[in-house]
Amino acid sequence: MWFRRDLRIDDHAALAAAASEGDVIGLFVVDPAFAGAFGTGRERFMREAVASLSAQMGGSLLIKVGDPITVLTELVAQTGAHTVYVTREYTPYGRDRDARVAEALSAVGARLRGVGSNYIVDPGRVLKGSGDPYAVFTPFSKVWRTLATAPVVDTPKNISWMIVPSDPWPVISDRPTGANDAESSAALPQPWFSAEPDAVQTRWEQFCGSGVQRYHENRDLAAIDGTSRLSVAMRWGLVHPRSLMADLAEVDAASDEQAREGIRVFTSELAWREFYADVLFHKPHTAWRNLNQKMDPIAVDTDAAAREKFGRWTRGETGFGIVDAGMRQLLATGWMHNRVRMIVASFLVKDLHLPWQWGARHFMNHLLDGDLASNQHGWQWAAGTGTDAAPYFRVFNPHTQMERYDPTGAYCAQWISEWGTTQYLAPMVDHSAERIEALARYSAIRG
Ligand SMILES: Cc1cc2nc3c(=O)[nH]c(=O)nc-3n(C[C@H](O)[C@H](O)[C@H](O)COP(=O)(O)OP(=O)(O)OC[C@H]3O[C@@H](n4cnc5c(N)ncnc54)[C@H](O)[C@@H]3O)c2cc1C
Repeated sequence: MWFRRDLRIDDHAALAAAASEGDVIGLFVVDPAFAGAFGTGRERFMREAVASLSAQMGGSLLIKVGDPITVLTELVAQTGAHTVYVTREYTPYGRDRDARVAEALSAVGARLRGVGSNYIVDPGRVLKGSGDPYAVFTPFSKVWRTLATAPVVDTPKNISWMIVPSDPWPVISDRPTGANDAESSAALPQPWFSAEPDAVQTRWEQFCGSGVQRYHENRDLAAIDGTSRLSVAMRWGLVHPRSLMADLAEVDAASDEQAREGIRVFTSELAWREFYADVLFHKPHTAWRNLNQKMDPIAVDTDAAAREKFGRWTRGETGFGIVDAGMRQLLATGWMHNRVRMIVASFLVKDLHLPWQWGARHFMNHLLDGDLASNQHGWQWAAGTGTDAAPYFRVFNPHTQMERYDPTGAYCAQWISEWGTTQYLAPMVDHSAERIEALARYSAIRG
C-alpha cells in the first residue's frame, strides 16, 4: 500500500483492498519532486502526518527516499510484492507519475492498482447527458449530490503489516514559511492544526455539535471560528470527506430547518472542492494558465517595482488591515480564512496588477491545506480568469470588505500587533485609483 495524500487507516478503500489480499507493506515515498512545492511549515506537517500514520500501524510504515519508480521496482524485487495499491490521483503530476510507475511495475511483473480517490465522487464521473463535463458549478453540484452517496469503507481488522527497514527522512525544504515554526506559533494559544487523528476527530465533533448549524451565518466572518478548519486534514487524507458526509446525515436527521441550512451550505463547499478537482482533471493546463484564455492578453506588472509590491503583500505590509491580517495569519499558522483569501487574492490582482500565479505559488508554499485544484481555481476565481469567476470588472473594495466581514476589527487586531497604533502602515496604494487602472486594463483587452 503506497500512501500519498491518504495518510489514514479508516474509511480507506485502497487499504481495505490491499488488506483483503494478505500481508501488506505500508509505504511512504519521500519524492525529490516535493522539494519544489514545499516550504518548511508544509514539510513539517507532512512529517507529522506520516509519523502519526506509522504510529497507528505499530511503527511499521516503510519510509523510502527517492524517485517512486526506483523505490517501487526495487521493493518489488526485494519482497516479491505483486500489486502496489494506491488511492487514484487526479492532478497533472500525480497522473503522469502514476502512469510511469504503472509501466515500470508491469516491466518487472507487478502492477499498480488504483482504488478510490480522495473525493466522494471521483473526478471525471459527473457528466452531462451528452458525456461532456460541466463548466459551471451549480449544475455540476446538482448531479454531484445524486452521486455523493458512497458508504463509508469498513476499516480492515488486524492488518498483517510486513516490516521492512526505512531510510532516514531527508531535509526536503529549506524555505522557511513560518507556519508552525516554534517562534511564530509560540504566540498562539495552541497549534492550529494537528496531524493526530484524535485531534482531527475532536475538532470535527465540536463542529458537528455546535458549528455547522450556524455555518451559513458565520462562515464569512473572519474573526469568528465559524468554519470547520478541516481543509488541512482533507488535503493530507487524514479524513475522507465520505466520512464527513455520513456524519452530517446523522446531524441533519436530528436538526431543525435553520441547522439544516448550515449543513446544506457546508455540503456545497465540499462540492466546490470536488468541482475544482474535476475541472483540473479535464483541463490540466489550468494549473498555471488561465481557464478563460480570452483573459490572457490582460496587462500585468512583473518589473522590479512589481516584485517590491509583491514582497510587501507577502509580508502583510500593505497598509490595508484585512489584507495584512490575512497574510500574517497565513505566515503564522499556514492557513487563512476563506473570505480573506478572496480579499487578498483580489488585492494582488486588481490593486497591485500582479500575475495571479505569483500569489498562487506563495499560497502553495505556505498553506498547510495547499491543494493544486482548489488553490489555482480559487485564484482564478478572484482573478476573473476561471470557472464561475467573479467578473473582472467587479473589484473588491478592501475597506468595505473589512467593514462587512471584520466589523469590530477583532481579526485585524488578532494578527497585526501594531493595529490601532501610529506604527501601522499607511495604505501602499490608493484603492480608487487602482480600481480605475484595473478597469482600464480590462477595457483594453475587450477592444
Ligand atoms: C485564493 C484561494 C485559494 C485557496 N486555496 C485553497 C487550497 O489550497 N486548499 C484548499 O483546501 N482550499 C483552498 N481554498 C478554498 C477555501 O479557502 C478553503 O478550503 C477553506 O478556507 C478551508 O477552511 P475550512 O476547512 O475551515 O473550510 P470550511 O468553510 O469549513 O469548508 C469545508 C471544506 O469545504 C472545502 N471548501 C470550502 N470552500 C472551498 C472553496 N472555495 N473551494 C474549494 N473547496 C472549498 C474545503 O475542503 C473545506 O475544508 C482557496 C480559496 C481561495 C479564494
